[in-house]
Amino acid sequence: MSQLIEIFGSNVFNDAVMRERLPKATYKALKKTIDDGLPLNLEIAEVVASCMKDWAIEKGATHFSHWFQPMTGITAEKHDSFINPTSDGKVILEFSGKELIKGEADGSSFPSGGLRVTFEARGYTAWDCTSPAFMKGNTLYIPTAFCSYNGDTLDKKTPLLRSMECVSKNALRVLRLFGNNTATKVIATVGPEQEYFLIDKKMYDQRKDLIFTGRTLFGAMAPKGQEMDDHYFGSIKPRISAFMKDLDEELWKLGISAKTEHNEVAPAQHELAPIFTTANIATDHNQLTMELMKKTALKHGMVCLLHEKPFAGVNGSGKHNNWSLSTNDGQNLLEPGKTPHENAQFLIFLCAVVKAVDEYADLLRLAGANPGNDHRLGANEAPPAIISIFLGDELTRILEQIACGGDCSSSISSKLKVGVTTLPTLRQDSTDRNRTSPFAFTGNKFEFRMVGSSASVASPNFFLNTIVSEVLEQFSDRLEKAEDFNTEVNAIIKDVYEKNGRVIFNGNGYSDEWVLEAEKRGLPNLKSYVDAITSLQVEKNMVVMEKHKVFNRNEMKSRYEISLEKYIKSINIEALTMLEMAKRQILPAAVRFASEVANSINQINSCGVAADISANTELLKEAAGLTSQLKKEISELETKLCKAQEPNQNSYEQAVYYKDVVFIQMNSLRAAADKLESIVDSRIWPFPTYADILFNV
Ligand code: ADP
Ligand code: MG
Repeated sequence: MSQLIEIFGSNVFNDAVMRERLPKATYKALKKTIDDGLPLNLEIAEVVASCMKDWAIEKGATHFSHWFQPMTGITAEKHDSFINPTSDGKVILEFSGKELIKGEADGSSFPSGGLRVTFEARGYTAWDCTSPAFMKGNTLYIPTAFCSYNGDTLDKKTPLLRSMECVSKNALRVLRLFGNNTATKVIATVGPEQEYFLIDKKMYDQRKDLIFTGRTLFGAMAPKGQEMDDHYFGSIKPRISAFMKDLDEELWKLGISAKTEHNEVAPAQHELAPIFTTANIATDHNQLTMELMKKTALKHGMVCLLHEKPFAGVNGSGKHNNWSLSTNDGQNLLEPGKTPHENAQFLIFLCAVVKAVDEYADLLRLAGANPGNDHRLGANEAPPAIISIFLGDELTRILEQIACGGDCSSSISSKLKVGVTTLPTLRQDSTDRNRTSPFAFTGNKFEFRMVGSSASVASPNFFLNTIVSEVLEQFSDRLEKAEDFNTEVNAIIKDVYEKNGRVIFNGNGYSDEWVLEAEKRGLPNLKSYVDAITSLQVEKNMVVMEKHKVFNRNEMKSRYEISLEKYIKSINIEALTMLEMAKRQILPAAVRFASEVANSINQINSCGVAADISANTELLKEAAGLTSQLKKEISELETKLCKAQEPNQNSYEQAVYYKDVVFIQMNSLRAAADKLESIVDSRIWPFPTYADILFNV
């Protein structure tokens, strides 16, 4: 497949292109900036810009765009053409170093959570040279960070870059203590597995709920769901396979290493996994992947749904965020080693994650939360809302053994002494079985399984990097002062096992017993997005984010406000869409159906034949009863929605009202409508049903 080799990365201004096209000195200087974070001077930027422009124009570019990731969770772009008029009425094509490095975007309509008042709406974009520029359509895209006039971050990339820097610094400190003097950088690596649904566009177009909210707000379950397990890893239908082929090609051109594609559990559900890369590039790539999934689906007459719960009654979609730390000399720090020394180092990094996840579980819970994910977490298809870590029995026993100094009754035969004995080889498959844990060790990385399918992976990773960074710093402080290094390593592991071991849970995370057990252990159970949002205002969380310079307090506060607003707005749109569909589609259909049945009764009666019309009258009674129930639920939702919009409540109170009152009423309205769907003539029902949608492609 030499063609694949040629197309891979063909639209990316990557290292190979830079090496080939940039003057040697420029290339070297730029590499220093990319690898070591050294500032880039304008002269170098001029040369890079000009070279980038030539490369892009050869590929048909007419425009360039600073591409950024505002707090909406999706990407934004503003296109400028390369043209510059000359005095003779013609144009030349220009792209300066300044234009490459910095842009100004009127950002007044992006959420800022109070960080930037509208009359000072200036936002700045700054080139992120650690993620390569690329070509899409006729535009050269330059990945950028987005901030306000006074430097507060307005996006998801800046905190991610800051967190990568701090985790690198603190991981290196630990590595030096273990005698590693060669690595100069530690990189957070990420591989996000992306789930999605594909449905026929003709079906989608007939459903206002899908159009406005990305999920179905009504719909009785189809006679068949996912119970036969015949879709999971099933053979891929030709239409889907054509889509995947097309998508792969688009992704490969952008240097995105789409690797695995398969059918998922629910009908019409699929998954794509790329090969992991740096957290920053993985995040950019995941945003592009989601965008290209949607675009490519349309080309194939389908719509790609990235919502966490498009259909009730079958599984929804998530995103598994695989995460690890790697040195720039190629060592995966979460890979168990072969020598006692390597093992001690591995255990320290492992314990850093365990401690971080236990102490900042609420921040991670938030990173996995959004309005859509409220339908999944804790609902037997996704991990519960409780954060716990799966380590596997072997690894847990090893920690236990070290913690009790080799004297406990654990089944490990020989005494384990950190830094002296070699760990028993961990069987990879033994750590891979548990599928119910929100945060699972899978042999040489952690898999955070709580992230929503539509969410950016920026926040899970910047929270993770920051909290692990904090613990690595604490460990280095201890180890630097230690009289005997190995003894201190032992003591750290013991402390973590004793104080944070409560977060380790290797059992079935979907069981009811676990919820009770977790409560006994004192683990937080933040049930909803709104509950999780409050983590942003918890003092210890503000302290850790501020200390590592990932967010200042204002930036935390702004994220708190934006998240509440996001919740309020999404539920409000859903409620309005429900009312629109219920009042103008379902209710009229129900009335029409009842009158058809009534007519049939009249007609039969007028024949003067003594026929048994009890079926007709029963049906009429049932239809009329459900219709009046539906009408009652509609009025109730209208009243509650009105109340939700009353002023004189703060955004938190308003969000809670939407969750506890509006959302609950939406469920009652849905129940009435879904019952009607099951008795109304299918020719009268106003939009495609689950059976129509889920089994159509
Ligand atoms: P599984 O099927 O058990 O979930 P895979 O081996 O298929 O595991 O990997 C899933 C994802 O994890 C892939 O995207 C892969 O690239 C990613 N991954 C593997 N190693 C690492 C690592 N060291 N850091 C981050 N992600 C990784
Ligand atoms: Mg996985």
